[in-house]
Amino acid sequence: MDTSLTSATVQHPRSVERLVAGQVTSDGAGVKLTRVLTHNLQQRLDPFLMLDAFGSDQPDDYIAGFPDHPHRGFETITYMIAGRMLHRDSAGHEGLLENGGVQWMTAGRGVIHSEIPQQEDGVMEGFQLWLNLPARDKMCAPWYRDFKAADLPRYTTGQGVAVTVIAGSSQGVTGAVTREATAPLYLDVFLPAGARFEQLVPAGHNAFVYVHRGEVTIAGQTVPVQRMALLANSPEADGVVIDATADAKVLLISGQPLKEPIAQYGPFVMNTQQEIYQALSDMRDGRLGEVAV
Ligand code: FE
Repeated sequence: MDTSLTSATVQHPRSVERLVAGQVTSDGAGVKLTRVLTHNLQQRLDPFLMLDAFGSDQPDDYIAGFPDHPHRGFETITYMIAGRMLHRDSAGHEGLLENGGVQWMTAGRGVIHSEIPQQEDGVMEGFQLWLNLPARDKMCAPWYRDFKAADLPRYTTGQGVAVTVIAGSSQGVTGAVTREATAPLYLDVFLPAGARFEQLVPAGHNAFVYVHRGEVTIAGQTVPVQRMALLANSPEADGVVIDATADAKVLLISGQPLKEPIAQYGPFVMNTQQEIYQALSDMRDGRLGEVAV
């Protein structure tokens, strides 16, 4: 790779504030999953509202998928690592998400869609992240894009660290999606055992790392597999340094907090209770999905 892209070095790495195991739950039509970023962390990890990790080789855990359901007021980012998921929405769009692919959907003022696995056996694994929209954009026109694995920007460092840049930018590589208000950074990083990865992250942004293979250490703290490390915000910290103690795969996610009130009722995330009532009444009257582009 171009070595000019490797110049960023972190002077003051963030420490780990705490480790989070997440909660085993089910959603949709009985899909078993682990909610890694739960409701009680929404303020702390603003602008992120939720992170679900689903992974199973038992079709009963996922086969029924997520039949028709609405969303309003935020964005969903679905990243499939294994398996296939078909999504369809109220505007007649459909797309197939396959190994390593990402669907980025901006629900805006309203989408009704389904997310249904397209396989009867084998492993199904992936993540869904919910990213809030600023108040001014919550009623924007819905938008989505599917990215195949080959379309996602990626680079490999001299130490063999392979980085997929889903959002934001890393070492000069701009991700598939950028957003001004929340400035999300979403990286999937493979680190061979013994390798180090450094990423600059602005001090004011909230950030976390989720380990989905292997084990890493962050500022001396061991982070085992299937744990989220919530990273401390200290004014002098300029980034994150991750060391792999075994071959590891991690998601590194950060964003600029919106610092706006969060009113959530299931798949609606607005700023006030009144706006939630409006969403429910629009849903009841069939107005929620009709304006989808
Ligand atoms: Fe959905």
